This record gives sequence, C-alpha cells and structure tokens, in this order.
Amino acid sequence: MCGIVGYIGCKNNTEILLNGLKELEYRGYDSAGIALLHQDKIEVYKALGKLNNLEQKIQDSNIINNHTLGIGHTRWATHGKPTELNAHPHLGEYSYVVHNGIIENYKELKEELIKDGHKFVSQTDTEVIVHLFENFNNKLNNTEQAFNKTIAKLEGAYSILLISKSQPESIFFFKHGSPLIVANGLEEDEVLFASSDAPLIGLANDVVYLEDGVGGIASSNGIEFFSENITWATLPTSKQYAQKDGFRFFMEKEIYEQSDVVTDAMLGRLRDDEIDFDEFDASLIDGIGETKICACGTSYHAGLTASYLFERLSRTKCSVEIASEFRYKEPLMTKNTLFIVISQSGETADTLEALKMAKNAGLKSIVVCNVDNSSMTRVADHTVLTR
Ligand code: GLU
Repeated sequence: MCGIVGYIGCKNNTEILLNGLKELEYRGYDSAGIALLHQDKIEVYKALGKLNNLEQKIQDSNIINNHTLGIGHTRWATHGKPTELNAHPHLGEYSYVVHNGIIENYKELKEELIKDGHKFVSQTDTEVIVHLFENFNNKLNNTEQAFNKTIAKLEGAYSILLISKSQPESIFFFKHGSPLIVANGLEEDEVLFASSDAPLIGLANDVVYLEDGVGGIASSNGIEFFSENITWATLPTSKQYAQKDGFRFFMEKEIYEQSDVVTDAMLGRLRDDEIDFDEFDASLIDGIGETKICACGTSYHAGLTASYLFERLSRTKCSVEIASEFRYKEPLMTKNTLFIVISQSGETADTLEALKMAKNAGLKSIVVCNVDNSSMTRVADHTVLTR
C-alpha cells in the first residue's frame, strides 16, 4: 500500500509534505500529489512516476509558501490506471481527499452520486469519498455531520484525510483498515499525519496509532477525536528502526510481512464470479481417483498452493510436477488421473508438451490460463479462463 501525509502548521508545508512522502517511497508507488490550503484557496499538484517529477512541477509553478495546511499521497493504483488524473488528492467542487485502501461499494455510490448531479473525472474508487462528503455537506451545511455520514456509507479499507474550503482551518481524518497515525508536532499548534512512523520522526514525539473506526477533526487548536478509545504513544527516534518496523534487518521484516504483502496485492484484484462453475462439465471428473497439476515457474508455485485445496476439498490425491521435468521422466500415467495444466499464456512450451503427452495417454485434462484460443485450450478437454 501507498502513503499518506498531512500537516497543519506554520512551517513550509510543501517541504514537509514532500519530505514525508520521500520517507514513504520505499513502500512503492506509481504517482504522487499534494493539496495545499491558504485561507480559502486550495492549490493542487500531481505527477506521474517518481516524486522528483512532482517536486519539479511544484518548483516550476513559482509557488508562494504561505499555506497553513496540506495533505499528500503516494498512490499504488488499485482502481484505474496509474495516470496523473487518477493520482490523489481528488477534488469535488470545494474539497480534496487522499485515501489509502479500497472502497468496495464505490460503484453503487458513484451511480447514486451521478444521479444527484455529481461529475466524476477519474477512474478511481477514491473520488466517491469527496463527492459523497460534498453531497451531504450541501444538504446539511455541517461539515462534521457530512464527514461522519460519508464514513458511515463507505465499505472496504480506507485511511482518509480530507480538506474543504467549507472549513478551511481543519483536516478531517478517519482510519479503517489501512494504517494512519496522528501526531502533535514539536512546535506549538502543529499537527501531523502519516501512514507510518518514518515521516514523523524528528517532527513529533507524541502520536496516536489510530485504531480502526477512529477519526476526528484536527486544526491548529488541537485534535478532536470522534471516539474515546485513544492511546497516546511515544514515537521511536530512529528512522531506520521505524522503516524496518522494529525488525533488525530489512530481510527479516520482509519475511514477516509476506502474508500482508500478498493480501495487499490481491486487494481489489480478485472477483468471486470470475469462474463460471455452472459451465463445468461434471462428466470430466467421473471416475477420477487422482489429480496431477503440471506447470512451470510461477504457475508451478500456484499449483503447489492449489494442490492443498484440491486434496482437502476433493479428498483425492493431488501431486504437482514441473512440466520441463515431467516430460523427460517417462512418467507413469494412469487413466483415472485428472491432468491439470496451468499457464498464463496457454503457450508455455514444456507445459504444452506435457499436456499433449497426457492427452495421448488418454487422461482427462483441464487447462487453467488467461488466453482463450491458445494452443493449450485447443488440446485440453476443458478450459478455465482466469481473466
Ligand atoms: N484505491 C485507491 C486508488 O486506486 C487508492 C490506492 C492506494 O491505496 O494508493 O486510487
């Protein structure tokens, strides 16, 4: 996941936000942006690619650094391509939002908002948040209520910072799923936000690692939380330590975060309805006593994982073979074996040859691949398309 930063205070907002985003660079991102507010004017800068591009754009704009608050974001696209238009912050009519995570019910919300006359310009799920906020605010004329009503409508994982000309001295914030930290700055009247420790080190000591479901409104007068369960903590002092989440080595950290990384990578990219099991020809598995999965590379590793599920669910033995080895080992092939091959393209040469061998030996076969009308789909008895 990508990064969020926010700042309220009299120091150079642009510099603090850009420095904060730089501290989050190691997490990966495809675009970046910041929104800065001065009195009731909001300036926004966005750029595709590395932060240098954003920095350059800001320098070229002859910016006057007199802002009192700002929000910034590095995006890792989940909904909509990595483009400047899809980069955060996202604008409604008079408010901006940055968001980490995924709004699962964004389609329904977007349809309702379009009916209400809202115009969308990006392909992101995020844009619904700012329109929803303005939709409520236009009706209620109360920013706090509008923000809370917005949150109540959102489903999914989200950390949000929102600023609005209708309450120009404040940053609205909320955490659900993705991490968010709020901090009192070292200087009086300063409040900072970040999605991990590193951007805050050296600028703050006292922080709240927000729990899920906690939000509030911050201004130079202080931080007002919507709920009671707030615990203040002391920020670690070492950036290296913070970036490594307390682990001694980056490698150790990466080993421990594998399951989170895999979960994050899948967020928003899996659909329940992708495979149409109704079309599956049940006669294919009649008389099957064993399953063999055959593939190469990443597909082989996917096969290893799948084999656990196959065996667990079908209660028949399931083995996995590397296709390039399988071809040359003069394998024993019994007709009660279901032969499954996995290949992104449906063309992987070793896997295709293994499939042909199985077919010639009279085995029933299934190919799992991304491409219809590939060499493997023409040979196998049944195709499961994965996209
Ligand atoms: N879902 C949002 C998007 O695609 C936020 C992604 C992120 O966490 O960077 O823009």
